[in-house]
Amino acid sequence: MSLKCLFLVSLLIYAGCNKTTQKTETSDVKTQIKEPQKKVDSIKTRNVMLINNVQIFNGKDEKISEGNILVVDNIISRISAEPISISEYPTAKTIDGKGKFLMPGLIDNHMHLIMCASTKQELMAPDASIDTIESKAKIEAKQLLLRGFTSIRDVGGPVFNIKKAIDKGETEGPRIYPSGGMISQTSGHGDFRTPEEKSRRFGGKISAGELLGFGFIADGRDEVLTATRENLRAGATQIKLMAGGGAASDYDPLDVAQYTFDELKAAVEAADDWGTYVTVHAYTPKAVKRAIDAGVKCIEHGQLLDEETIKLLADKGIWLSLQALDEAPPTQTKLVREKKHQVVQGTENAFIWAKKYKVKLAFGTDYMFNPPGNKNQNLDYLKLKEWLSPFEILKMATYDNAQLLALCGLRNPYQAGELGILEEGAYADMILVDGNPLEDIDLMGDPEKNFLMIIKDGIIFKNMMR
Ligand SMILES: [Zn+2]
Repeated sequence: MSLKCLFLVSLLIYAGCNKTTQKTETSDVKTQIKEPQKKVDSIKTRNVMLINNVQIFNGKDEKISEGNILVVDNIISRISAEPISISEYPTAKTIDGKGKFLMPGLIDNHMHLIMCASTKQELMAPDASIDTIESKAKIEAKQLLLRGFTSIRDVGGPVFNIKKAIDKGETEGPRIYPSGGMISQTSGHGDFRTPEEKSRRFGGKISAGELLGFGFIADGRDEVLTATRENLRAGATQIKLMAGGGAASDYDPLDVAQYTFDELKAAVEAADDWGTYVTVHAYTPKAVKRAIDAGVKCIEHGQLLDEETIKLLADKGIWLSLQALDEAPPTQTKLVREKKHQVVQGTENAFIWAKKYKVKLAFGTDYMFNPPGNKNQNLDYLKLKEWLSPFEILKMATYDNAQLLALCGLRNPYQAGELGILEEGAYADMILVDGNPLEDIDLMGDPEKNFLMIIKDGIIFKNMMR
């Protein structure tokens, strides 16, 4: 078996319990997609769009205001209850919003675009290559946009090429905040080697996963610094480390802490020098407390935290990036199913305590390796109904998640305006909804039917208003 195949097999072991219980309808690409328009500088042909008569939810405040919204190029230029003149823009197009609900584009803060876009069979194919993996991810990126996701935070995987292609307008997809390869200690949650593969320090070779850019197995301060800087060099907006055991991996128990304080601190220093932050995969109080002490700014998961540690997150202003994961399917090993069950059980308390102590809370879906299931991404947000009001869900999916995106500070690739909010000067990333999700949040679960227009960067990617 080639190194690559070994890697893919171990990746599948790692990810096998993700979302395989979801529905398996194939997604059907809408035909209303409008080709992105080329941006041009001439004022006569600028991309100007006036949307009249909409109910505006700005993403942040629990109210809606009736009005009109003017987009010039990729920025919201004006919002007004009064008519907006477009006489200075002869090529402007006007859209009648017909009193529909306008909100900011959705944000998913915990994605692995590359890994959610391919099936097991595709990854195990003998001819699997980074090119084919990327082409699958490009198709998924377009689908993401059609589900209303205009920005995502990618917390691990070789996504840099796709991010660049989207930004250049060469392919369609959301704005991507990439982390690059996940950084893991030997034996950690991101050590995807098969049991027979030896460490490259002790007679082995560099693992296929590392060569493909999925991760780094880095031990000691020096290697962690190099891995962090490799990601920063490639354009990472934040750095992702594995700081504790994982539910879906077969080798590391859920309860273990990973990386010493010094190793975590090394990554934090390198990221901080680059103007950004470190986020860690961690479930337990021990792992999370050590990460906080080392200067980590965000915790991914955290479903096994106790009340005291969740309060500590609030006191220290640390972000908690939560998911609402499903139980592992019966096809998984007993060990993995038991670990996953613990995580699912802990989700309830994590949300309740995070809300009680007003922790900075973000949300993401963490889908992997079941492309037909990706269609259910919006439904994951509806699981939040158990703990959050419709307003709180919409705010988390837009404004709150955008605040975590912006935590990358100087490394933020999108600094011309704010994301996750509809206000003058913000990016024109928005969705026109048929109905009011503040009253009926279930509308969000069927984007194909209920999202009438999807606009990203001032460009219409879906339009059912004609
Ligand atoms: Zn993940």
